[in-house]
Amino acid sequence: MKKTLDNRRLTTNFTLYEFIEGQLPEAGKDMNWKNIAQMDIKNMEKAAAHAQSVRDLINKNFRSDNDYKEIGLRITSGWRCKEWELHQKRSGNSQHVIAAYDAQPVNCSKRQAAEILAWLLHHFKNYEGGLAIKKPTFDKGNILTPGFIHFDFRGRVARWEY
Ligand SMILES: [Zn+2]
Repeated sequence: MKKTLDNRRLTTNFTLYEFIEGQLPEAGKDMNWKNIAQMDIKNMEKAAAHAQSVRDLINKNFRSDNDYKEIGLRITSGWRCKEWELHQKRSGNSQHVIAAYDAQPVNCSKRQAAEILAWLLHHFKNYEGGLAIKKPTFDKGNILTPGFIHFDFRGRVARWEY
């Protein structure tokens, strides 16, 4: 699929494409590019500014236990076109269709990533928008997946767990 927008840096550590593609499967990326006219770039700038503040906050409060200079924040899912949501048998009313992102700490152990996510959930307990968490999964005491945190910018408080 032709990428009809040039990638560009939105903040120090985040680029536009991270919010368009995230870690969607190829089919999802393709569908997003096909429907890119539906995306409001101002909303991506807002999401990136927020993600940057969260990344900065993490690095003010944690040091990577894997000896990386900084802990990164990977956007696992940013903007998603409505067509993709419907294709995934979702309602199409997700805030991801407007402005939302899911993210997980990287350049640290899965255990530390899970610890940071739990810390963020507490830190943002009064956040005036949508905030959700996917908790880590375990196998015999070992972390398989650290989970992720979701932020959106709806004009009211919403909380849930995946
Ligand atoms: Zn989400």
